[in-house]
Amino acid sequence: MKYDVIIIGAGPGGIFSAYELAVKRPDLSIAVFEAGNPLSKRHCPIDGKKIPSCIKCKTCAIMNGFGGAGAFSDGKYNITNDFGGTLYEYIGKEKAIELMEYVDKINMENGGAQTKMYSTAGSAFKKLCMQNKLTLLNASVRHLGTDINYIVLENLYNKLKDNVDFFFNTPIQNVEIVEGGYCVNSAQISAYCRKCIISVGRSGSKWMETVCHDLDIPTHSNRVDLGVRVEIPAVIFSHITDELYESKIVYRTEKFEDNVRTFCMNPHGIVVNENTNGIVTVNGHSFEDPSKKTENTNFALLVAKHFSEPFKDSNGYGESIARLSNMLGGGVIVQRFGDLVRGRRSTPKRIEESTLRPTLAATPGDLSLVLPKRIMDGIIEMIYALDKIAPGTANDDTLLYGVEVKFYNMEVELDKNLETKHPGLYVIGDGSGVTHSLSHASASGVYVANHIIENM
Ligand SMILES: Cc1cc2nc3c(=O)[nH]c(=O)nc-3n(C[C@H](O)[C@H](O)[C@H](O)COP(=O)(O)OP(=O)(O)OC[C@H]3O[C@@H](n4cnc5c(N)ncnc54)[C@H](O)[C@@H]3O)c2cc1C
Repeated sequence: MKYDVIIIGAGPGGIFSAYELAVKRPDLSIAVFEAGNPLSKRHCPIDGKKIPSCIKCKTCAIMNGFGGAGAFSDGKYNITNDFGGTLYEYIGKEKAIELMEYVDKINMENGGAQTKMYSTAGSAFKKLCMQNKLTLLNASVRHLGTDINYIVLENLYNKLKDNVDFFFNTPIQNVEIVEGGYCVNSAQISAYCRKCIISVGRSGSKWMETVCHDLDIPTHSNRVDLGVRVEIPAVIFSHITDELYESKIVYRTEKFEDNVRTFCMNPHGIVVNENTNGIVTVNGHSFEDPSKKTENTNFALLVAKHFSEPFKDSNGYGESIARLSNMLGGGVIVQRFGDLVRGRRSTPKRIEESTLRPTLAATPGDLSLVLPKRIMDGIIEMIYALDKIAPGTANDDTLLYGVEVKFYNMEVELDKNLETKHPGLYVIGDGSGVTHSLSHASASGVYVANHIIENM
């Protein structure tokens, strides 16, 4: 099997590389190898009743398959250089924004046209944040919602399937350098190509490490974000979410001068389990469909932890803390804010008696036994700071789910074309450590596809 270009991973990075190549150079032969299922066969077995929690499937339907980790996400495409990755450091700020807007245009052409774009530009809310020691980061955000995001992916797949060979349930085991290009090997197939794009996302981070080790590609790693997911009645944040939908707000703590930030806001959404390499953590979704909207809003509060020499395993640190919550709670732990500040665990009775209905069946417990004090203190401080701009955030019945961990892939050493030291071998998306979002990952895919087109 010989191709001009092989793409490993069918997440947003891989999909947009394939899309750009297929549209601009239909003469090229392109293959995509994906560890998970086609979109239509991606079903998480957790139903809340018969299967209440993660049963650790062979490939995780949430993280793997066509659409990647973003397939069932809230589909928030943030067009900004302020967060979501450092793509701009490689390709320049203007180019990065231009490509994110280009991706947005393609999403609109493929089913997203009715969705709304929100923006922080000119928002009065910025001043209110500043007056309360909070900083609102600049961004425009397209909210596709989980349902429309799925339709867009379906349409993109239908456009691609006749020009691109997709191999699903085919995890690539290794990449070899051969004369004139690369050979990628799975358990069943070996395929050759002139150019190879690796886009394996967060779920492929461990595999990516082995590739870099085998091919002697330098890497760097030192960051993990830890925190909780906060759930409140939607009305408490409605003045913010109605205007901005997703707001990234940063607070600098008084005690330790750590930055705590909001992340992944889901107005009228649900809190969900997430499985990363067998460890159950927490995340959130929301839907465009009015019938699926809940009365709650959720968002994460995260603290970034950077490590310096000699410690190198920042993800291992995050995993250990997530494991601790899994050990104590059998999965995700939920605690009322009032219980946390009073130094007591939440019990099923206290959750039952509170005014807020949790959208995730998690185990009532004590998050202070799980998260390091420094992180817990920062989160408590931030909740009180948010209470000043959205009174009610620090209510006793506010729910905190833990732990939320944002793992970062190690950064692969790449040049300004996102090419490794081996010519024709590119690493894009979250698997490169350069991006951490749908928009940046997709833009990196378009960028590399164009670089290949120019050089082929
Ligand atoms: C629940 C959830 C909600 C999210 N919500 C948002 C959001 O609203 N906005 C936002 O910007 N970001 C969100 N994110 C993050 C976003 O999904 C990622 O940043 C984005 O998907 C990264 O794209 P990617 O293509 O780099 O990697 P992925 O999307 O992770 O795709 C990588 C693909 O590679 C495959 N793969 C891995 N290893 C191999 C291998 N060895 N061989 C073959 N295939 C392999 C995987 O199966 C996967 O399908 C969310 C993530 C999750 C989990």
